[in-house]
Amino acid sequence: MRSLVDERFRREVSQFALCFTCERCAHFDLPAQRCAHEYPSEPHRQRPLQAALEVVFCKEFELE
Ligand code: SF4
Repeated sequence: MRSLVDERFRREVSQFALCFTCERCAHFDLPAQRCAHEYPSEPHRQRPLQAALEVVFCKEFELE
């Protein structure tokens, strides 16, 4: 699911410590740097939000 990134989104991610990237997902194989469910992880990886125009949420995300 794609979501636009604006100042409110950036502020709320910081304020509430929102987690939604592969690095915080229970299905991410950290040593192998890949999704254990074999989904393409690149669109869901952690990146700086300051320059981002949108984020892509993974519907399979599960907090570790
Ligand atoms: S299930 Fe989705 S969020 Fe979790 S590691 Fe795989 S691609 Fe990333």
